Amino acid sequence: MLYHSTRNKALSVSSAEAIAQGISADGGLFVPESIPELRAEDFAALKGLSYAERAARLFKLYLTDFTDEELRECTHNAYETGSFETPAVQEITTLADGSMLLELWHGPTCAFKDMALQILPHFLTRSIKKTGIDREVVILTATSGDTGKAALAGFRDVPGTRIMVFYPEDGVSSMQKRQMQTQEGENVRVCAVKGNFDDCQNGVKAIFTDPDMQKALADSGMQFSSANSINWGRLVPQIVYYVSAYITMLEKGILSDGQRFAITVPTGNFGNILAAWYAKQMGVPIQHLVCASNINKVLTDFIDTGVYDRKRDFHATVSPSMDILISSNLERLLYHMTGGDDAQIREWFTALKTDGRYEIPAELRNRIQAEFSGSFWNDAATKAMIGKVFAENGYLSDTHTAVGICAARDYIANAPEQYPMLIASTANPYKFGAAVLEAIGGDTNADEYEILDRLQAKSGMQIPKALAELKTKEVRFSDTVAQDEMPAYVKAKLGIA
Ligand SMILES: *Cc1c(COP(=O)(O)O)cnc(C)c1O
Repeated sequence: MLYHSTRNKALSVSSAEAIAQGISADGGLFVPESIPELRAEDFAALKGLSYAERAARLFKLYLTDFTDEELRECTHNAYETGSFETPAVQEITTLADGSMLLELWHGPTCAFKDMALQILPHFLTRSIKKTGIDREVVILTATSGDTGKAALAGFRDVPGTRIMVFYPEDGVSSMQKRQMQTQEGENVRVCAVKGNFDDCQNGVKAIFTDPDMQKALADSGMQFSSANSINWGRLVPQIVYYVSAYITMLEKGILSDGQRFAITVPTGNFGNILAAWYAKQMGVPIQHLVCASNINKVLTDFIDTGVYDRKRDFHATVSPSMDILISSNLERLLYHMTGGDDAQIREWFTALKTDGRYEIPAELRNRIQAEFSGSFWNDAATKAMIGKVFAENGYLSDTHTAVGICAARDYIANAPEQYPMLIASTANPYKFGAAVLEAIGGDTNADEYEILDRLQAKSGMQIPKALAELKTKEVRFSDTVAQDEMPAYVKAKLGIA
């Protein structure tokens, strides 16, 4: 399987090269030349297997320059060495209204990002060796909160790698900030940026694509790569969990073979929902995809109108990991849905950069609407839904998941036909403790650790160990820079000034 750049179809690289590079030098994202299809017997063969075994078999379809042994080693290291608190790795919970939550947050940092970022370092270090370049990899990551911590946890003390994470100064929850500032490890660094997530992401992208910076790095025996969902090595583990969830629903008798279901995904960078779309293309019987947003509703507007317009106010919400106006992975969807029209993709994404907007033709918009719908929900609706779900089920959902539940219920209420609904549950509620406690009627006038205790007392749900123990950890990183200071900061910290 070869990979093309969304902005240059003539460029073909191996999966190892796609993962090692992270993003194509032309600014495009790597996409598979074709999407493998699973037949009924392939699905049947995945039944009864552990998550790690399923994952290894599915990775083989995409990462064709890895051996079976290598893939199994990677999935073992990621999913079978105790970093996930549940042996199944992911869990499915059914709510009283019949909808199901796919809990993807049982990993070490309590958000779904662990599903991919526990395995990406294993893919990446092997990919670097395969491409024959023996350089130290510098992972540069912009985060709206959860990617940063999950990447730090995944890459911590991995030989041959260093990692630097940039987060928006006021754009993450206090627990997310604590998690990053206290990160242990010899090869890690964390820095706040004055600005929002898009400023961080633009800063990182500019450093990546700066030829002088690349040369300075190469001269020092280093090269950049990305742990953001622009890296194919992050997307492919996400496809796996949707396929695996389908198999688990078959095993549990929730679905019958081939029975169609719908999926709702709380969305920011469009990575998680795109993974569900790939799973659908592979043959998982997904009837419809619901894209849930908070009031940074650029995707809802895009799906409704065909106009992508990032020129709008940015809002900080109680679901900060979705406070994003540039959803990078949409580029991959548009590439596939235009039949690989790289010239068209270049035109749209150049326009996005220079004019802040692009518009797709009505014909394409209609095809997107046939597969996706979108809706957006403000903080009040989000908190009300957390309260409602708790009252109805005694179940705590985090703020992002609650946005998803709002969108799913709205979709079901208006859908012409009914299908079982699977909602991606993207974070442990304790990660966004203050908003969740407030939503269930608790008193939030307390520090973040007292809030955890109060939430536990009220809900009976156990505080995750990884969050409870932050209290005693030393703050190691408290630097803050402006976006235009990021290149100098990176050079200084890498010692290549
Ligand atoms: C990252 C994140 C999202 C958004 O996922 P995308 O892949 O960026 O669309 C949603 N919820 C949580 C908790 C996240 O960490």
